[in-house]
Amino acid sequence: MKKQIIIIGAGIAGLSAGCNLQRNGYETQIYELSKRAGGLCTAWKRKGYIMENCIHFLTGAVPFDSFYTSWQSVINPEDLDLIYTPEYLTVEKKDGKSITLYADLAKLEKEMLEKAPEDAHLIKEFIAAAWKFTKFKIPVDPPSEISGFFDKIKVILKILPFLRNFKKWNSITINEYVEQYKNPLLKDALKNSLQPERAALSLLFIFAMMHIKSLSYPLGGALKLVELIENNYLQSGGKINYSSKVKKIIVENGKATGILLENGKSYRGDIVISAADGHYTIFNMLGGKYLNSKIKNLYSNFKVMPSYVQVYLGIARTFKGEPTTLALQLKNGLKIDETTKLDYITYRIHNIDPTLSPPGGTLVTAMLKTANYTYWVDLKKNNREEYRSEKKRIAREVIECLNLKYKDITSKVDVMDVSTPATVIRYTNNWQGSHEGWITTPEMGFMKIQRTLPGLDNFYMAGQWVESMGGLPTSVVSGKHVAHIICHKDGKKFCVA
Ligand SMILES: Cc1cc2nc3c(=O)[nH]c(=O)nc-3n(C[C@H](O)[C@H](O)[C@H](O)COP(=O)(O)OP(=O)(O)OC[C@H]3O[C@@H](n4cnc5c(N)ncnc54)[C@H](O)[C@@H]3O)c2cc1C
Repeated sequence: MKKQIIIIGAGIAGLSAGCNLQRNGYETQIYELSKRAGGLCTAWKRKGYIMENCIHFLTGAVPFDSFYTSWQSVINPEDLDLIYTPEYLTVEKKDGKSITLYADLAKLEKEMLEKAPEDAHLIKEFIAAAWKFTKFKIPVDPPSEISGFFDKIKVILKILPFLRNFKKWNSITINEYVEQYKNPLLKDALKNSLQPERAALSLLFIFAMMHIKSLSYPLGGALKLVELIENNYLQSGGKINYSSKVKKIIVENGKATGILLENGKSYRGDIVISAADGHYTIFNMLGGKYLNSKIKNLYSNFKVMPSYVQVYLGIARTFKGEPTTLALQLKNGLKIDETTKLDYITYRIHNIDPTLSPPGGTLVTAMLKTANYTYWVDLKKNNREEYRSEKKRIAREVIECLNLKYKDITSKVDVMDVSTPATVIRYTNNWQGSHEGWITTPEMGFMKIQRTLPGLDNFYMAGQWVESMGGLPTSVVSGKHVAHIICHKDGKKFCVA
């Protein structure tokens, strides 16, 4: 009889674990708290527009990339219609000065040197390091838990030529790195490129991957990607149980043997995989009983990616020739909540994806970061009216700022929606409303996070909370790796596609 495996969470990692286990002869069922699959990778429809909540860039869905076989394990990547944008970000200061961070490294260097000649030596060093990283292939397989001596040697040989650069660029944050620049425009552009607490290495990776076209945007965004993976899983015989929030993982004699849902129903399995939020899994579903100092340290001392208020605008006009990602500096800043004020609003102008809007319209979104998730959760709970009016206030300011640039926005907003950290928690249960798990700070680096817990057998974790770097490809790999480890333990050859 086939082994029965319970998977908690139908996000990208849970679906990936499911696809990879079904293919390898296991019988799986996913239990998902919400009414649909995708987790953080989601979007929804409003008045003819699709409110894209997730994908800015998809990494590695191209044959030369080391993530490609992982994508192949969940979809046929050829079913994706990939679009490449010529630039990563355009930043405009309130005095009208602007800079575009291009995808092409030669163009990027030229633009940076033109706009910030006083920083020539730093720019040249940055671009040279980015060129170097265009040759780097991230070692993905096999999972380190089961890699043998020769696999480890292969990883070392891959990393060795880049070691000096890894050490240098992973030792400081983007914030610290940017402080070396003199030019205020370039400083702001680099700070707005990624979470500034991340290691400067992440910045190099982004530009290196943009240049070689490892980063793309899949037409149809989150809905299309999730639909492809979900269909693949269901066609392989997997089952998804929606509206099924797991309350407890049942443990007998040190082994995970099943789950108890919030509705009181329980289900048994030979193995349980949690591809749900890490904190909730360890401290709620398992009552904090399976810990060691490493796990305690991780959840007490490491920083998580911030949550966000996101404004979605369906606008009845086209933005032909305009940047796809535009950061506009505000005259007086924008208060998000009690502890968060932003100097810039970064807009994603979805002019590259006509499937997200009716003809003649464009979806524009603004992702406004905040670490103050408690403010939003409490406000929603205690004062619904003020919660709604705060969302409206922020949306108004987001529209006004865009209107200053394009003049005809306010009258053309067909539809508007706003999500907050409370929305993220409600629909995905992610700790602190985080949008990507851990921040890849210099301390986090390439830290190995355990996918099992001490004292607990037949149990695994997958997804962004057990990886040092979050994101879609990481979650696909994470689910696949857990499947690979289970096959290895059962003495089965792992079949990848
Ligand atoms: C605004 C935004 C922009 C992003 N942009 C990008 C991007 O451009 N590129 C990129 O690569 N990544 C991006 N990401 C990150 C990426 O979406 C996530 O890292 C990835 O989707 C995480 O997948 P996961 O399966 O690990 O976790 P999740 O998506 O969190 O999935 C976990 C699932 O478990 C379910 N669950 C939780 N608790 C329970 C429970 N108790 N019982 C049952 N089910 C439960 C949840 O509902 C969810 O479906 C972005 C994320 C956001 C929010």
